[in-house]
Amino acid sequence: MNVAVIGGGMAGMEFVRHAYKLPVEITLIEPKPVMVCQALLPELLSGKVDEDSLCADIGEFCCKTGVEFVRDRAKCIENGLVITEKGKQVEYDLVVLAVGAETNYYGIEGAERTHNVNTLEATLKTKKALNKAEDVIVVGSGITGVEVALELAEMGFNVRLVECMDRILPTFSPKVSNFVYNIMKKEGIDVRTSSAVFKVEKDGVVTNRGKIFGDMVIWCAGLKPSKFVEYLDIPKEKGWIKVDEFLRAGRAFAIGDCAFVKIDEKIATKTALEAEMQAKHVAENIKRFLKGERLARYRIRSSIDKPIAMIMLAKNRAILVYKGVTVFRPMRLIYKIKKLAIERFLRSFI
Ligand SMILES: Cc1cc2nc3c(=O)[nH]c(=O)nc-3n(C[C@H](O)[C@H](O)[C@H](O)COP(=O)(O)OP(=O)(O)OC[C@H]3O[C@@H](n4cnc5c(N)ncnc54)[C@H](O)[C@@H]3O)c2cc1C
Repeated sequence: MNVAVIGGGMAGMEFVRHAYKLPVEITLIEPKPVMVCQALLPELLSGKVDEDSLCADIGEFCCKTGVEFVRDRAKCIENGLVITEKGKQVEYDLVVLAVGAETNYYGIEGAERTHNVNTLEATLKTKKALNKAEDVIVVGSGITGVEVALELAEMGFNVRLVECMDRILPTFSPKVSNFVYNIMKKEGIDVRTSSAVFKVEKDGVVTNRGKIFGDMVIWCAGLKPSKFVEYLDIPKEKGWIKVDEFLRAGRAFAIGDCAFVKIDEKIATKTALEAEMQAKHVAENIKRFLKGERLARYRIRSSIDKPIAMIMLAKNRAILVYKGVTVFRPMRLIYKIKKLAIERFLRSFI
């Protein structure tokens, strides 16, 4: 059986790691040479980690595991073929979609000219632009926005964090928001909640509460499905690939950020943990399928109402949110555990 995997990010690579020993021929289609652990991108910005320590070489891993690596971007899938931008055609019996997500600018004027930390390339560009800045505006106060703002404050920048909701980290409990807000205030970050950006200009952002000035803007305000997903003729929910309880979307499987996973009224978060678990689950379901067994239902670990996350707060600190419980201390130990978990994850691809 030929299995095509589209996307060699965390979900795609983790799928390959779990599936390469199965009696299937795997082809991984990914335009980039490395898998990037995005959780470390805020620390790449501040120079605490370098490029090498957050990447795994896809070509080497595929070579070691006997997986064919097509270094190209998938353009479309048609009649059992993945067609890439350079015109390569990959035949498959089963396709695993793991194409991640793209930055969402919500159609806001000027937003596309801002910086971001969603990819390695974008983060390196942002890092370079910081050389000419003093006052930095971070838009969006989800985990990424909070982590970026605190890293920048530690580096000595004047940081303004802009959030349209009435508190930072709005998808977490008010207790978590307050705790992190107090740390931000101590670090001198100017937090502007209930401020919706509707225009980005050269010298700042225009919000419903007036203009906020800054030398550069880092956009951490959300994700949207990629163009590739937009053109796929499969079930969707708000543009994301809608999967069933077996992580199937029509005749494909979809995992990681590109998938909308709703099971028993719970919706999976778009996190590394979920990407890893979904990847492992699909590999196991393919194994069951090959043995003629029934597919197993997926169990969401980190859902929107009960998320699991380790939020880094600069200065080697982090907190752990585990479903309804938050562990606020010891912050240095939680930070160390997070770094060790990432190192271990990356080492599994060497
Ligand atoms: C700055 C930042 C910090 C984060 N911090 C955390 C954290 O602390 N904890 C946590 O759990 N999660 C964190 N996340 C989220 C986590 O990184 C993602 O949920 C995870 O990477 C999702 O994996 P994925 O494989 O679905 O997507 P990605 O890792 O983004 O991989 C998608 C891959 O698909 C490829 N691709 C896209 N389109 C195509 C195409 N048409 N053809 C072929 N390939 C294609 C891309 O090049 C990319 O390599 C963070 C994300 C960011 C951006």
